[in-house]
Amino acid sequence: MPDFYADSMLGKLSRFLRFFGYDTLYRSKESIEDMIKSSSENNRIVLSRSEEIVDKCTKLNVVAVFILTNDIVQQLKYLREQLDLDLSVPPHSARCSICNGRLHEKKKHDILDLIPTGTAQHYDKFWSCTECGKIYWVGSHWKDIERLVENTR
Ligand SMILES: [Zn+2]
Repeated sequence: MPDFYADSMLGKLSRFLRFFGYDTLYRSKESIEDMIKSSSENNRIVLSRSEEIVDKCTKLNVVAVFILTNDIVQQLKYLREQLDLDLSVPPHSARCSICNGRLHEKKKHDILDLIPTGTAQHYDKFWSCTECGKIYWVGSHWKDIERLVENTR
């Protein structure tokens, strides 16, 4: 399973990659040089909308993929084709879309005070982020993600 470092402008893509379980950093405040250095040291694939940055990576032997569109469906379709990504819904293992932390399954009664009452009544499967504590559940938006993935085929 490849790890990624998504350049700024690819915030949505990085959240999706985390949802599908891919370890993905997102460049916001870090410099381009730091992103490339960290990717080189930790074997991450750089994703960027800038041809210049992709060229820079190639020169330094860092694997980089030029993302040529802003459309999330086209981006995922392209990565699926290029890197054979697994975009199953539900994902085999997901990561926190906010912080890239790992998610661990939680028993409902352990997190009851952390979720809205309606949510507790309607859903049974919950996870929490081991890093930032955010709670996730299989909600209605999973259907939207499923539909979006259908469109990448
Ligand atoms: Zn988190």
